[in-house]
Amino acid sequence: MNKKSYTELLEDLLEKISLFEKSDEVDELLREALSLIMGKSRSSLGTAYVYDDIQGELVFRVGFDHGDYWDRCRCGGCTPPERLALDNNEVGLAFQTGLIKMVNYDEPPHGFSLYSKIIIPITRGVEKEGVVIMMHQEQDAYSNVDLADLKSAVSLLGDMLAEASILLEQRAKIGHEKKITLPRVIKGIRTSRGVVEAKALPIWTDMEDAVENFPQAGSKNEELMLFTLARERSLEQLEKLTESLSSDEEDMVSLIFTAQLLMLKDMNFTGKIRKLIEEGKGAPRAVQIVVGEYADIFSAMSEVRLAEKAQDVRDLGFRLLNNMSESREEGFSYKNRIVLSRHIYPSDLYRLSVEGVAGLVLRGAAVTAHISILAKSLNLPVLITDDKALMLIEEGTPLILDGDKGELHINPDELLRKKLGLEKRARTQRGVYTLRGSTSDGTAVNVMANVNILKDAREAVKQGAEGIGLYRSEFPFIIKNDFLSEDQQYKIYRSIVATQKGKPVVLRTADIGGDKLMQGRQEAEANPFLGVRGIRFSLANRPMFREQIRAMLRAGHGADLRILLPMVSDVEEVVQAKEEIGQCMEQLEFRGVEFNRNPKVGAMVELPSAALSVADLAEETDFLSIGTNDLTMYLLAVDRTNDNLSHLYRSHHPTVLRVLNDIAREAEKCGTDLSVCGDVAGDPLMVPFFVGLGIRKLSVPPLSVEAVKTRLGQFTLEEAERTAREMLAIRKPSELEAYRLRFNESFEAVG
Ligand code: PEP
Ligand code: MG
Repeated sequence: MNKKSYTELLEDLLEKISLFEKSDEVDELLREALSLIMGKSRSSLGTAYVYDDIQGELVFRVGFDHGDYWDRCRCGGCTPPERLALDNNEVGLAFQTGLIKMVNYDEPPHGFSLYSKIIIPITRGVEKEGVVIMMHQEQDAYSNVDLADLKSAVSLLGDMLAEASILLEQRAKIGHEKKITLPRVIKGIRTSRGVVEAKALPIWTDMEDAVENFPQAGSKNEELMLFTLARERSLEQLEKLTESLSSDEEDMVSLIFTAQLLMLKDMNFTGKIRKLIEEGKGAPRAVQIVVGEYADIFSAMSEVRLAEKAQDVRDLGFRLLNNMSESREEGFSYKNRIVLSRHIYPSDLYRLSVEGVAGLVLRGAAVTAHISILAKSLNLPVLITDDKALMLIEEGTPLILDGDKGELHINPDELLRKKLGLEKRARTQRGVYTLRGSTSDGTAVNVMANVNILKDAREAVKQGAEGIGLYRSEFPFIIKNDFLSEDQQYKIYRSIVATQKGKPVVLRTADIGGDKLMQGRQEAEANPFLGVRGIRFSLANRPMFREQIRAMLRAGHGADLRILLPMVSDVEEVVQAKEEIGQCMEQLEFRGVEFNRNPKVGAMVELPSAALSVADLAEETDFLSIGTNDLTMYLLAVDRTNDNLSHLYRSHHPTVLRVLNDIAREAEKCGTDLSVCGDVAGDPLMVPFFVGLGIRKLSVPPLSVEAVKTRLGQFTLEEAERTAREMLAIRKPSELEAYRLRFNESFEAVG
């Protein structure tokens, strides 16, 4: 047996790598490496698979069979498969978990005398590269192997496989490898729920590629005519879109479209395109060149807000090109399409939704909380995926986007459509709900709505919400990526307040900062979640804060107005904000305009420091509202937007529950009005928990209002108190998880 460790053996081999040109000989090296490992462990069978991240499968690269098993096999199932799916098998599990798996057989598969097997995942740092699978004639053959040594040796092999996979990609490009086929389903991260069926509209081709697809340019006059027609069509489309908006929405959206409309009407822009056509360029090429120039100018601007406009110009470019395309007789439209894209700004999301897009799939995009919150408000299913296969989907491909499960089905069949109940969904109509919120034995609980855009406020009324428990006023700022004047804000807030017809309306001052950024409007921070966010931002930008407060006070005239301060960390911030509110009232008085003279002022309890100062905050405020989304994040130090940490982001963690209980106890002692407005306010298990703590106000997304009211009617006050006691007695997160699972099972069984 070789005395060297596995690592030493492979290190010797790796030294040779520099002697080789980086070419097909990588496979040769892999073969040698596998052979060395097999020799040292005296394995009889060995295979190495490399991960193909386009298909999400393992691909066979090299293998050795020292016992002619593959040739002798009668069943045909013994030769290593070309490709291995990762689902539901031990190889996939070892690959995904990065843990070595050993198997011993009493009765070896296929009747061969191979009694033990080892599956070694090949990793490079956090990257997963492939697996090595080996089989041995003896029982327990791998139990005495130094696993740490084997693992580190195989990691060296990972470097070679990384090379191999680069080659694989290169060969695929020059057509030597098997053609990549589209998978039937692409998996991703659920960002906003809902199931929709529509055709694909990929929008990542760069304009250069899009132009290549046009036929050869015609005569100058023909090309000029082509551009003129495309421009007219685009103008017509954009104008129609703006007109189709209701007057309330107009305010929000007009700025998003006006930039494009203005550009189309700009003689400089269109003149440059015409000039290029006159110089002999085809219309599509001329559009591409001029749009490219403008986009470059915007992109180079240091102010990100303006840099974002580059996207606007490119979008206009695509609209023009699409309107030139002969195949598009009906004109370009996002309506009823599932858009596949790379990056998205909140303004894009809003614009696409207004244009009637059915859903959105983003590739590898980092998604801010606001994008997902906004997508939910817009009722737009959004999926995020790293899967490169997304780029292979062609325009017009039939798709089903299942935002509930986080899946994109490509060319779905009738069976799947039935399974997902698409026809049924289409037929379901929502009514107007009026159910009052109370436990089954009559304890009243106010169920209010979280509102982000006007559409939510209308939905809240339809769903029978007892007012608005949280209006996130930063949304207009973020969608426009700009500040709004007092009057602009006033109009937006007024239309929101007006929907509630006297029911309470909680307007939260702008929670800008963290990941709710206005691009380019804020100083870059190393730790934005711990930076100038919420009330800190407002107090640091007093003129803006005052404009917002005046707009709120005016919009709340004659209404039950409550102003809520976000991200409060101590009572002084509340005192300062109240002073500003007082001064704003004096200014409005002086101006002689109508405004609410008696707004209630409250604070969000979403920072640990606020949770520990409830009594102080209660003394300075009229009400408190627990923001469980941030409270969970700051208590557990887990970023709410980091999907890799979603398993640690638990609002039902024992510590969080205890802090919630402490807040409720303190608030009760002070007799202060306390509500919960974070996402878990609508969780079927947390509803009785909160009621059990004595909380009588929950604010949830409009579409959850009815479900929460129904849930309230399923338990008595005593049962709620028992649930809270039981949950508070649990000390370990895993036990709470088990409690939750038990609850979910019984809840689903009953439901
Ligand atoms: C919260 O933090 O729970 C909350 C409701 O506020 P937002 O989600 O807007 O931060
Ligand atoms: Mg918050």
